[in-house]
Amino acid sequence: MVLRRRRTSLEILSVVVFSKIHRDCGTWKVGLFYFYRPSSGLGRAQVPTHGLRRGLHSAAARRLVSAAFVVCRAVVFPLWQTCCMHRITVGDFELTIFSDGTYPLDGGAFFGVIPKVMWSRKVESDEKNYVTAGLNSLLIRTGKQNVLVETGMGNKLSERMVKIFGQPAKLFDHLSAGGISPEDIDIVINTHLHFDHCGWNTIRNQDGKIVPTFPRAKYYVQEGEWQYAREPSPRDAISYVPENYDPLVQSGQMTLVKGDQEIVPGISVKVFPGHTAHMQAVVVTSGGQTACYISDLIPTTAHIDLVWGMAFDLFPLQTIESKKQCYAQSVPGRWLMVFTHDPKTPWAYVERDGLGKMVARGI
Ligand SMILES: [Zn+2]
Repeated sequence: MVLRRRRTSLEILSVVVFSKIHRDCGTWKVGLFYFYRPSSGLGRAQVPTHGLRRGLHSAAARRLVSAAFVVCRAVVFPLWQTCCMHRITVGDFELTIFSDGTYPLDGGAFFGVIPKVMWSRKVESDEKNYVTAGLNSLLIRTGKQNVLVETGMGNKLSERMVKIFGQPAKLFDHLSAGGISPEDIDIVINTHLHFDHCGWNTIRNQDGKIVPTFPRAKYYVQEGEWQYAREPSPRDAISYVPENYDPLVQSGQMTLVKGDQEIVPGISVKVFPGHTAHMQAVVVTSGGQTACYISDLIPTTAHIDLVWGMAFDLFPLQTIESKKQCYAQSVPGRWLMVFTHDPKTPWAYVERDGLGKMVARGI
């Protein structure tokens, strides 16, 4: 440990261990404060001037001055992110966010036509203009079934994709740490088939064969989305990775639905075109309460304004129309909105303030 290399352990006066859960990002951290007296420089009661030492008559006073030069440092170890965190009940259902990690996205692409002077007030970017995007999956326990919405980026990205996006691949570990095994999942719903939404649908087994990650699950996606994925435009062809869905369609494990439909009692899909022509949201209703996994129609709390769309949207004007339609139901119905790509706030209520501006109210 760095500490030992540079100083002898005898100089460490005390150690305090602490554990903390970060409220915003759900990261659980353990760490320790250690108090030590440096052997050189300030401290070691080199209290630095002899004149001062001479002026301190009592031993107690000397100890007091010496103590003033004791240094405190903290070492923090993040353990995991968003695991077992962000849990809420909606009527009889229990909803939990499980993250596949975060990845870098170009800030300009993330906010489309919105100038940086405006979006940079809401989201930080690095020197390359990258912002951090989350990969939030939603697990719904209905009491009868475990329904997983979205499966993140997965672990099968090509080298080229890894260079651009990294490959956090945390979902599997987070589910497992939350006590969920792949066999526990009954249903998987993909809102659309971009690589960052269905990556863990499948994995490569030891023989190199692509197999379902969730062997018992029935998978659902819009038929139109799958048809488009077979022949995407050059503009978003990079986002479609057939191994994430074609083997499931071929084996019959993935059901292709047409339009709005109830998947199980209380859980429905609803098409909101804009990001793609057939992107669907997942609406969860129980006991008079509603939550909505709105996916890339409103990817983060920074995108709640009608015109704050992503440059990735294939049909930006439809994104605006779909947002209007969504808010027409979600605002009066007090729907809890779940955000796919928000690394800090996976869900919030979206309301209209006194001036008619959309605002997110966290829970
Ligand atoms: Zn996305």
